[in-house]
Amino acid sequence: MVLADLGARLHGALSQLSRAPVVDDQVLDALLKELTAALLESDVNVKLVASLRNKVKTKVKKSLEESAAAGGREVNRKNVVQKAVFDELVALVDPGVEPYKPIKGKANVLMAVGIQGAGKTTTCTKLAVHYQRRGFRTCLVCADTFRAGAFDQLKQNATKAKIPFYGSYTETDPVAIASLGVEKFRKERFEVIIVDTSGRHKQESELFEEMVAISNAVKPDMTIMVLDASIGQAAEGQSRAFKDSADFGAIIVTKLDGHAKGGGAISAVAATKTPIIFLGTGEHMNDLERFAPQPFVSKLLGMGDMQGLMEHMQDMARANPERQKEMAKKLEQGKFSLRDWREQLSSIMNMRLTYRGSLSKIASMIPGLPAGVMDGSEEEATMKMKRLMFITDAMRQDELDSDGLIFFSFDKAGHPVGLNRRARRVARGSGTSLREVEELLAQARMMAGMARQAGGQNGWCVSHLFHP
Ligand code: GDP
Repeated sequence: MVLADLGARLHGALSQLSRAPVVDDQVLDALLKELTAALLESDVNVKLVASLRNKVKTKVKKSLEESAAAGGREVNRKNVVQKAVFDELVALVDPGVEPYKPIKGKANVLMAVGIQGAGKTTTCTKLAVHYQRRGFRTCLVCADTFRAGAFDQLKQNATKAKIPFYGSYTETDPVAIASLGVEKFRKERFEVIIVDTSGRHKQESELFEEMVAISNAVKPDMTIMVLDASIGQAAEGQSRAFKDSADFGAIIVTKLDGHAKGGGAISAVAATKTPIIFLGTGEHMNDLERFAPQPFVSKLLGMGDMQGLMEHMQDMARANPERQKEMAKKLEQGKFSLRDWREQLSSIMNMRLTYRGSLSKIASMIPGLPAGVMDGSEEEATMKMKRLMFITDAMRQDELDSDGLIFFSFDKAGHPVGLNRRARRVARGSGTSLREVEELLAQARMMAGMARQAGGQNGWCVSHLFHP
């Protein structure tokens, strides 16, 4: 899991908040202190942290004052604080700029730049695999003639991933190789053409000159800077230096699997107003996670990533177009039964076969799963998923076909007031707890709600997390 330590600490701080009987100034200060310490340890810039702290405080105060002025309606202080923390963490990693998105049916040229060792070549292959999986005709061009072995590395990766590639052992002019490769693949109607460039020269100025020359020759739709997370907040300086010489439109931060300074790198990049599009989370081809501020923070805090989860599901459904149509229709109409949720859970379990050992990653996208699953082992994730399956196994057919409301008691006005006897039976029958049954119902309900709201698009609303 990306930034597991930071996530666990932030999640821990918010859990303490949930356990406090009342949220007074003292509790809020303790939370902010823990939050501040966790962010600083992750190498987030001290000024950014101080500003986040003040903003949360101001927001909470304002929100409570407003509710008092509006007639003193009792507000849930915990929700107010949680929401303020969530929003400010999102603001911390949000550059407020939308990145370029490759378009089907045209040649989208993506050029990767960055210093040697940042993970450029590895990331280019990961990117190629990503777009290929999403139905783009994808290929790779190696324009790194400076580093001996660069072409071999790309060739090896590309062959393994079955991605067409272009490069040369004899041509020494990177601009010529890039032009020839891009031209060839354009003619062959490739849709995503990824150009890997050199990351080192005798002189730094030569490196930048070369980047500009390649860029002028291939006219990329998006230049992506690849940046190593271990440099922490120094990422801001490095990306600015690159930007001054060769402008780029997006960033991929790599090596977030092993570095405590990841929070620093991500927030430093956001400060340069350039969108991060992906995070590299390991050496394997599948270790690439799409980055978007809200889902990232949501996942960091153990609240899941519905958007990512839905994307994964769409990926899976692609293998079975008939089922995909059926599921898309259901999702659009918000007709999502517990049986559907069970089917999704079981496909997630099966995904381990396709996506090597990444069940805990997928599990971390599911709202309501405890933080332990996120940083925990594969066995833990598997066990948690199995327990969810036990719950659905203990349900009757009519219950599986329902939206889950069947497990609630209602007051006279028709509002659900709690789980009913059947829910307790299911918990007992499946050897799980009522809390787990409640979690599962909340997930299925959230899934239906998100689907309805998104209507097949990607938009979603944070308030769901707090008022599911
Ligand atoms: P380049 O010089 O920028 O092209 O970097 P490479 O692609 O050759 O990567 C340098 C090293 O970093 C290699 O050993 C990669 O396996 C490793 N690497 C790249 N991305 C990641 C990542 O996200 N996580 C980890 N742990 N290692 C990575």
